[in-house]
Amino acid sequence: MISGENGFEAARVDRIFNRRLTDRQPAAVVRPRTEDEVVEAVRLARSRGWQVAVRSGGHSWAQWSVRTDALVIDLGDFKEISYDPDTEVVTATPSVKGGLELGPFLEERDRFFPGGHCPSVGIGGFLLQGGQGWNARGWGWAAEYVVAVDVVTAAGELVRASETENSDLFWAARGAGPGFFGVVTRFHLRTLPRPRHLGLTVQAFTLADFDEVMTWLHETHHTVEDTVEIVALTKTDLTLSPDPVLLVTALALVDSDEEAQRALAPFRDNPALDRALMVLDAVPTTIAEQRKRQLEDNPEGHRWAVDNAWLSGAAGDVVPAMRKAFTTLPHPKAFTIWFSMAPLRELPDMAFSMQSEIYLAAYTCWEDPSDDERCRAWLDEAMADLEPVTLGQYLGDSDLSHRHVQFMAEDNWARLQEIREVRDPDGVFVGHLAGEGATNRNHWA
Ligand SMILES: Cc1cc2nc3c(=O)[nH]c(=O)nc-3n(C[C@H](O)[C@H](O)[C@H](O)COP(=O)(O)OP(=O)(O)OC[C@H]3O[C@@H](n4cnc5c(N)ncnc54)[C@H](O)[C@@H]3O)c2cc1C
Repeated sequence: MISGENGFEAARVDRIFNRRLTDRQPAAVVRPRTEDEVVEAVRLARSRGWQVAVRSGGHSWAQWSVRTDALVIDLGDFKEISYDPDTEVVTATPSVKGGLELGPFLEERDRFFPGGHCPSVGIGGFLLQGGQGWNARGWGWAAEYVVAVDVVTAAGELVRASETENSDLFWAARGAGPGFFGVVTRFHLRTLPRPRHLGLTVQAFTLADFDEVMTWLHETHHTVEDTVEIVALTKTDLTLSPDPVLLVTALALVDSDEEAQRALAPFRDNPALDRALMVLDAVPTTIAEQRKRQLEDNPEGHRWAVDNAWLSGAAGDVVPAMRKAFTTLPHPKAFTIWFSMAPLRELPDMAFSMQSEIYLAAYTCWEDPSDDERCRAWLDEAMADLEPVTLGQYLGDSDLSHRHVQFMAEDNWARLQEIREVRDPDGVFVGHLAGEGATNRNHWA
């Protein structure tokens, strides 16, 4: 569909999650249903002199797929999943939704994939940028589970990329995110056995306890067993308080109640526990329940501004720097998360290369356009407070058109540029959405 045709506006943005919509105008949108049609689309773009932008799930906060004068290849109508029980590898097309589609498909086969927390996220953008899935601190980045990708290159050829063939593309596809220079048409993914038991601990506090609880968590999280996903967040939960509350949550993904009780025991030592507004202690839950909760916290049809930081430093520096982001939320639907990655695991050699022990992401969410400026300004101020303890950021919750923060190790960034020059010398693919171009630098440095 070409710009100006009836229905073009819907094709431009109907699958975009963030409804604070950009007005960037692509040249055309195609919705291929097969790999051959993706090949044809890339060749069409070349013949017309258009750049190519790709959309899988449409969940990138900054709407990376809506690019000026480009051909948008929207993969929403190309959905296939298959599983090979001999190799335990699942193959899925990029618009497949990690939690709503891939997860249940695998769980029926007693397997599991650490997909994104919000179940409607497409696996395409998620895996290309690294993929912070369930229990990333223990199971690693979802991109580490990619064993091969099928890619339509900038030359319009369909190739397979793995450790042994087109290994440059394989390296780049695990971390380049929106800077990738090809259309991934299929991911081949290693799977895990399905955890037989999930145990959940939740402790709720008033914000007066923020410093004490977060200092304790800062000093404790690296000692907790690596089967436990640890997230602290502030949000408004009217069942607990009219004001925002601090929740410390720990989800053990294990095989028995006994294992969950043991893995979650350290949370019973929280020094503020006697002041908790509510405590759940190692209660059984299911992944379906946890996905439902994520959908409730991430409502559709809303306006969003999101930013994030990889934090590093002593509790005495990090906790005060986080106060604004956690204790002054600008809207009842806004929330900020602290996500443990400790103890930090070593990464394999892939483009993704920026992480630290603590991931902080602030999600402002609202409906009324008149709140845009206020919510955006709050987010900028909260992130500015964090700069002294910020190492870099994660592409998944970033918006480089608004704020430049380093997202890749310097050597990896240089290698990515070299591969891009070889694989896409004519600049067919739009690359990172970043004003004058991505710098991979902290803007305050
Ligand atoms: C509600 C919500 C919850 C989230 N939760 C998590 C989470 O738990 N963990 C996490 O890591 N992230 C999370 N994210 C971030 C999310 O993973 C990223 O925004 C990701 O880019 C979304 O992928 P997508 O395919 O849905 O997005 P899209 O906007 O369709 O894709 C983003 C970009 O990735 C590139 N791309 C996508 N598919 C392809 C392809 N097939 N070939 C080439 N390039 C491609 C393109 O540049 C594209 O514009 C969340 C986002 C939302 C909105």
